[in-house]
Amino acid sequence: MKYKDFRDFKIVRNCKREYKNYKSYLPNLADDFKHRCAYCNMLDKYINQGYPIDHFIPREVYEKAKLAELEYDYNNLMYCCPKCNNSKSSQYEGNIYDGSYKNEMFYNPVDIDYNNIFYRNEYGGISSEDVKGKDMIINLKLFSPIYHFSFLIEEVTDVVDKLDKKIEETTDPIEKEYYNEAYIKLSKFLRKITVLFNCNYYNNSVKKDN
Ligand SMILES: [Zn+2]
Repeated sequence: MKYKDFRDFKIVRNCKREYKNYKSYLPNLADDFKHRCAYCNMLDKYINQGYPIDHFIPREVYEKAKLAELEYDYNNLMYCCPKCNNSKSSQYEGNIYDGSYKNEMFYNPVDIDYNNIFYRNEYGGISSEDVKGKDMIINLKLFSPIYHFSFLIEEVTDVVDKLDKKIEETTDPIEKEYYNEAYIKLSKFLRKITVLFNCNYYNNSVKKDN
């Protein structure tokens, strides 16, 4: 059952600069992708090691095809979380010589509105009714509980932000105190689950002081 849209923005490539080292594009990609993974939509701030850059047409393929410029072609670069980057790896299908930025195994996250393919289900997981969308969920391991977890953190963050606004708006001191208490408790909880999320993402144990 659909609970929410997959994304609440459209990815637009605004970078006008050109670099020969694709890694130089990282800040531009972060801006254009609103700090979210192209494939799972997770925010980069939830993990502490930063996001890598995915080549939509993978390196192995463009190197074999002698199209080395795809290494630093901005249209072939996707802001992507480490897990999606690992899962996607060198998976590719298509004709690289047709000049388009296509990889038939995956919908291009910039050209295709993922809201027409994916949605968030009632458990916060990523679902699709589309055949290729379903394949993508398997090929990118988007069924992993870690993506439910990141979505739930966003939901809690949303409530914390709403409480913060409510505290500002409320003039009654007793009511204000009530919201303030809830805000403090929920913020603490949010910090804890964010640490827990980070540990889960990297399969690390949780340190005692957390
Ligand atoms: Zn991802």
